[in-house]
Amino acid sequence: MTRRILVSACLLGRPVRYDGRGRALAHEALTRWQAEGLLVPLCPEVAAGLPTPRAPAEIVGGDGEDVLAGRARVVDGDGRDLTAEFLAGAESAARLAAESGCAFALLTEGSPSCGPGFVYDGTFSGARRPGSGVVAARLRRAGVEVFAEDEVERLALRLSADRAG
Ligand code: SF4
Repeated sequence: MTRRILVSACLLGRPVRYDGRGRALAHEALTRWQAEGLLVPLCPEVAAGLPTPRAPAEIVGGDGEDVLAGRARVVDGDGRDLTAEFLAGAESAARLAAESGCAFALLTEGSPSCGPGFVYDGTFSGARRPGSGVVAARLRRAGVEVFAEDEVERLALRLSADRAG
């Protein structure tokens, strides 16, 4: 059976981002995978009960790996500690991936939850640091292969190899 792809819901245009918008990713492969039933959408922040719109959040003191290890926390622009909610969202993602047969994830870059390659540095100044969001880190720990939104072609090749193998 073809293994499926967990996808950040905002990449499918769902209006779940902190600003109440989506971030639709236009790519024919994504349209095809959706028609084939391969995509499993999730917004982990909404799954954790956070409202939309909501204040933007950043990781303070590290990246998602550090949050999982208890060395860093997630706060929003109003100073509210959202670490527990972000950890709950990451657990939702890992559970859904396991239950729905997702071996792969296609995630939104830069998000403190989903970001696969970088996050903002916790100063709310627009400065970035390399690292994963909490969900990307949690999925990697679960053995899910994580791809960024600009890596659809690479994911398509990986999926072809998976189907052939
Ligand atoms: Fe998109 Fe992930 Fe942010 Fe939800 S948590 S809005 S799915 S980037």
